Amino acid sequence: MRLVLATGNKGKLQEFRQLCDEEIVPFCDLLGDFEIIEDGDTFAANALIKARTIYNKLDKNSIVIADDSGISVPLLGGIPGIYSARYAQDEIVDRKVNDKDNRDKLIVAIQNKKVNRTPAHYTAAIAIVSKLGEYVVHGWMYGEVIDTPRGEKGFGYDPMFIPQGYTQTIAEIEEQIKQQISHRGQAMALAKPIIKMLYGKIV
Ligand code: IMP
Repeated sequence: MRLVLATGNKGKLQEFRQLCDEEIVPFCDLLGDFEIIEDGDTFAANALIKARTIYNKLDKNSIVIADDSGISVPLLGGIPGIYSARYAQDEIVDRKVNDKDNRDKLIVAIQNKKVNRTPAHYTAAIAIVSKLGEYVVHGWMYGEVIDTPRGEKGFGYDPMFIPQGYTQTIAEIEEQIKQQISHRGQAMALAKPIIKMLYGKIV
């Protein structure tokens, strides 16, 4: 039996490894890297698409975990939401979008609304697919996005996200604290007992 993570994202792999007691293998170590088309219209649907795609390529004693996550800004009607990873892609023709491109686009979008900070939240959906069934759990982290990114830790939108109750951005906060308060940390706390239960039943 193997616990496999359906992401090639190094930041996420590191967070999952810190959150999970069991040994986790990234799918690309077993199957090579390939793109999974995430065409669901919710975080949960996309997490399930990723987990099922990998599970279907592995032996059926595997437990596959996938997450889909993103940041939503109510002032902008909830965007970038499920499009967080590729938010700025339509403006870049010659290469793959990176985290800074996405942050820069979000900064311009909030400045166009004549504000320099506004409420936002991260959502994480974690899907677990195994021969004993499919499960989905969610976690959220609420706070604000600002138009002046700060800090070097984390990834994605972290330098421009200040969680509720803090003055620093997530990119300035100790990684252990991020794990406790983050959307992925909250969802993982719910996923852990499910993984443990499956671990005990699948040999
Ligand atoms: P996914 O790989 O499709 O789940 O894309 C998630 C995207 O949302 C990432 O590429 C980031 O841009 C953003 N995101 C999700 N979680 C986080 C986080 O914890 N910190 C910063 N950005 C995040």
